Parts: sequence; C-alpha cells; structure tokens
Amino acid sequence: MKKIFFLGECMVELKAISDSTLNQSFAGDVYNSAVYLKRCFSSLECGVVSAIGTDALSIKMRQRFVEEGLATQLVFTHANKVPGIYYIETDEQGERSFTYWRHDSAARKVVDFFNPSVEEELASADMLFISGISLAVIEPASRDLFWQIVQRIKKAGVKIVFDPNYRARLWQSEQETKGQYTIAFELADICLPGIEDLTTLYELHSAQAVMDYLAQFNIAEVVVKNGPSSVFTKINGQLFEHQITPVTHVVDTTSAGDAFNGAYLGARMAGMDEHKAVQLAAKAAAVVIQQPGAITPKEHFVKAMQS
Ligand code: ADP
Repeated sequence: MKKIFFLGECMVELKAISDSTLNQSFAGDVYNSAVYLKRCFSSLECGVVSAIGTDALSIKMRQRFVEEGLATQLVFTHANKVPGIYYIETDEQGERSFTYWRHDSAARKVVDFFNPSVEEELASADMLFISGISLAVIEPASRDLFWQIVQRIKKAGVKIVFDPNYRARLWQSEQETKGQYTIAFELADICLPGIEDLTTLYELHSAQAVMDYLAQFNIAEVVVKNGPSSVFTKINGQLFEHQITPVTHVVDTTSAGDAFNGAYLGARMAGMDEHKAVQLAAKAAAVVIQQPGAITPKEHFVKAMQS
C-alpha cells in the first residue's frame, strides 16, 4: 500500500457561533490536506507526524485523526504540553479574524520524539509532506537534526513534498524564513506553491515568475496554484497551463490550497497523470470553498466529489 506522511501541527479551532457559544473543531494546513487526501483515496495510507498532549482535547484530536482514517503511529504524546488553539470570528462584513495561542504547543516538540525507529517508519513512506507552517513550528534548535533526517529519508527513496504556505507572524524575520525555504526547495521533489505565499518573500507576482525562481533548484514537479486562475505544472521541464472553472459563490476560502494539495498528491500516488490530478484537486478545492470552515463535513464532501 502506498504511504504518505504529513508533518506539522493540527490545532484546536474555536469558532464563535453566537455571543455565548463556541463551536470546537480541529484544523491545521497539513492535517487538512491529510484529511482530503484520505477522503479522496481511501486505499492510500496517510499518516500525521505531530505531537499532542495528554489533555482532553488532545485525546479528542487523536480520535478525530482515527475517525478520518489517518494513521497515528507517528503522533507522539508530550507529557506536559497541549495543542495550539485558535479562535476565529467573522464580522458582519464577512471578514474573518484569527487569534492564536500556539507559541508553546506540543507540536513544536515533534522532532524531540524522533529516534531510529521513527526514522525507519518515515523512510518506509513514498512521500513526506511539509509546509512552510511546519517549518515555522519546528523549534529552531531542532532544525539541523530535522533536515539531517529529511536528507536521509530522501536518500532512502521518500519523495519530499513542500508547500511554502508563508505565515509571517510565525517567523522572526524574512531572512530566517528564506534560509529554511532554501533548504526545503533544495530537498523538494514536488513543490506546491501558491503565488501569494511567494510574493512577500521573493516579490514573485505570477506563475511564470514562480517557475523561473524555482528553476534554480532541482525540483522534478512544480504545481503553482493561483486562486480562481489557472494552475501551472512543470514536470521534468514540461510546462503546462491547466484551466479550472472559477466558483462564483465562494463561502470561505480557508483550506482551498490544503484540499488541492491533498487531492493532488493522492491522485499522483494513485498513478493519475498531472492533468487528471489537477482537475480532481481543483474540484476538491471548489467543493471546500463553497462550505464554511477548513474541514467540510465528510458526507457532503464525498457526495460532491462523486457528482
Ligand atoms: P491557498 O489556499 O493556498 O491560498 P489558492 O487560493 O491559490 O490557495 O487556491 C488553491 C486552489 O483552490 C486553486 O488552485 C483552485 O483550484 C482553487 N480555488 C481557489 N479559489 C477558487 C475560486 N474562486 N474558484 C475556483 N477554484 C478556486
């Protein structure tokens, strides 16, 4: 069975649904992608690599991973840390604001749990997915060890997948981010950037500019997402522009790129070519942005994907 691991942080999401009521769920970029991959391709093994605590919400989070069919052998339990939390509120104009408590979360400690048997499990996968948010969450003191392990599992045959997903507030400086991103670009076999993520950091404003910038690295497969505009792929040097159908009634774009990534990678692991993979990924993203929240209810998602 083909296997992929998604490394990063899943958070507790609190959403105001009235003045006195909060709805609680779970979300985070890599987790979202893992969920959508598994929902699209249930026969692929899809696991989360992260750390949670021993608290009630951590227990529920692990249960949610299992309910979504995600493998949890690399979800570690930290004795005295808890998951990151964010609170989301939507004002009358539909503008969302986010408040985070994640600077001391269990997920930041994930590399502390790595040992030879964890590395062996990682090396047994076909792909390892990391995002720019994963890189920001890993503690700076663990970065060298993290990259050594990524290098070794790549040598063992694991494809490294990177989505830059840039969140400025998680980094000390742009210089720090660029240092980490350069290592990621150098190691990536597949890169799935959104243009916006690279605009602030590298002043790249178009898919072509992103492709030109990434040409200096040895990345076999680049997929550039650009909201409702077309998707560009460059696979072993072959550039292609894929048309997608824009959604006219967008409810909430949270997790569009995550759903795209999950469905795209699942499709590629299942043997589809990039044309079919982009169409499926764009469909998954379109379903997700017509529903509120990062994780669309499973039944609705599965039904919409079959229609
Ligand atoms: P991110 O969520 O990473 O910012 P994008 O906004 O580029 O990512 O969107 C990711 C994918 O979601 C796009 O490539 C596209 O397939 C889909 N998408 C986003 N916005 C729309 C839209 N308005 N209509 C149709 N598809 C969309």
